[in-house]
Amino acid sequence: MLYVKSESGEFTPINYGNTFAKCPKCGTMHQIDLADILECTGGDVEEASAFCEKCSAKHMPMFENADKLQSIADRFGVHLREVQRIVKSGLDRDLSLEACLVGARLALSMESGKEELFSLDDIAAVLGCSREEATAELEKQGIQGAQISTLPGFEWLLGQM
Ligand SMILES: [Zn+2]
Repeated sequence: MLYVKSESGEFTPINYGNTFAKCPKCGTMHQIDLADILECTGGDVEEASAFCEKCSAKHMPMFENADKLQSIADRFGVHLREVQRIVKSGLDRDLSLEACLVGARLALSMESGKEELFSLDDIAAVLGCSREEATAELEKQGIQGAQISTLPGFEWLLGQM
């Protein structure tokens, strides 16, 4: 049996019903399985954290599309965790999975200096609009199709316009 010692000096046995984590996103205290969490963090108790059920549900598309994240990780030669971190933060901001994937490619492209091509569909996903609206938005910004435009740190090639 393991115990935690409270500030008043009381020992409380740790069991399945009394182990809680604070959700790093919304701050909700929620019941967790300590063994599960420690397995995920490689046994690091102080680094351990767990999203609550509601916030975890938001991250589901990321796990359902693990292959897409893995292919981005492979392309940039980074660990899957790195891609998950970026996608997770996008999902937390209520972006669509597509927008998050484009965001991850964008961020990794800027970080690595590797060029990455973005299609009109990618841009529409980020802007949350149709291809037509994306075209109009790009024209407004003076970016032409099939033109390499220099935005900070990377180049956009809009071959599909
Ligand atoms: Zn939460």
